[in-house]
Amino acid sequence: MTVPARIPPLVVKFGGASLAEPTKVAADLRALRRREGSVVVVASARERVTDLLEAALAHPRAVALHREILAELRRRHPGLPIAGRQRLERLAGLLRRLETSPTVDPPLADRILSQGERLAVHWLSARLQAEGLPAVPVEADHLGLITDNAYGASRILLERSRIAVRRGLGRILARGDLPVVTGFFGRSLEGRVATLGRGGSDYAAAGIGALIGSTRVELVKRHVAVLSADPRDVPGARPIRDLSFEEAEELAQFGARVLHPLTIGPARTHRMTVTVRSLGGRSERTTIGPGRPRRKNRALTVLRPLRLLRLRVPGGRQRPGVVAEVAQGLSAAGVNVVQLFTSSALLCLVLEPASVPAARGALAPMVRHGGVEVEGPFRVALVTAIGDGVLDDLDRLPQDAVRGAQGFSATPRALSLAVPEARARAVVRALHRSLVPRRSP
Ligand code: ASP
Ligand code: MG
Repeated sequence: MTVPARIPPLVVKFGGASLAEPTKVAADLRALRRREGSVVVVASARERVTDLLEAALAHPRAVALHREILAELRRRHPGLPIAGRQRLERLAGLLRRLETSPTVDPPLADRILSQGERLAVHWLSARLQAEGLPAVPVEADHLGLITDNAYGASRILLERSRIAVRRGLGRILARGDLPVVTGFFGRSLEGRVATLGRGGSDYAAAGIGALIGSTRVELVKRHVAVLSADPRDVPGARPIRDLSFEEAEELAQFGARVLHPLTIGPARTHRMTVTVRSLGGRSERTTIGPGRPRRKNRALTVLRPLRLLRLRVPGGRQRPGVVAEVAQGLSAAGVNVVQLFTSSALLCLVLEPASVPAARGALAPMVRHGGVEVEGPFRVALVTAIGDGVLDDLDRLPQDAVRGAQGFSATPRALSLAVPEARARAVVRALHRSLVPRRSP
């Protein structure tokens, strides 16, 4: 294995928005290389590029729109070197294929989506070279980052990827060069391009860090660290300095848009700390690592719009197998349950709005033959307070936040309230006032 690992390489991922300032990216990297020795860069597509590619997929026959998108992508990557221009040509070919195929095949969709990151690494590498850095563009599928075959939401298979990724990056690092690797996708077991889901470059960076034995991964976002709430809901939201792996995982799963939900897995199992920070300057940062006793973090998330269905079960939950029957019916219908609240006679399901018809269909036999009654759907939002030991704060829940809630659930790490959608913002603000410590400890 050729990773020159006296000091394991640092992996630093630049988000699309931070790429708008390549000179600052170069300065950031020069400082990191001085301090850390070897560095591996992971890059997302430039800002809005993946949105444009998704728009092309949403309108597979829109030839004129595809042409506009190609022109826009060219404008967004000025000074693209020849390898990058070839990627644009390939994209044009893939869009033509899309225009004439009867259905959108998921691997073709992923291949189209992956072009944003490919353009980014060729463009960024050229910019970094112009700044005197020995940047080498690397496309993760060619490198051998292997994923499962779940196109659009694939998972990195670390064991399958380890040898090729270590060897490929090790070779570049051993020359003293700076690999600039595409985030967001890898190569499936069938040998096709597979994306990791929106925001997947964070996850790619954590996966690559785990593969090459890094102890730290840095995620560079445009503005801020992880905040105690979305500032669009809570203007007084504050940066959080440290999070445990578990807190960060809950935050990502409960919809804080700052991290891809799978990012923390490889970090936790490989004991890598993950730093979230902005580009340049004396910026706020959040470090995600092992939990510390006595530290108290509280962060709030809101998932919306959601729908709640209330099931009244004759004989109550004590009737053997009723939860399983409902869960199996829903899963067979492809319905994802966002949250589940139960009491002895009620079972409340929180669902995405689009899955309500399928859920009702799946429950219909139980309504017809099992005497189950279904009420709703009610329009709700799920407001969640996250933090190690959050159950200790139960007595501080403000009355007006809880009033009118349609359901409540809690673990020692996450406490969720389903509240009427129209009250979501008032509730999250009230919880922020009473639960979030004044200053980050
Ligand atoms: N470019 C992809 C997206 O916008 C992946 C990423 O940015 O992390 O979702
Ligand atoms: Mg992006």
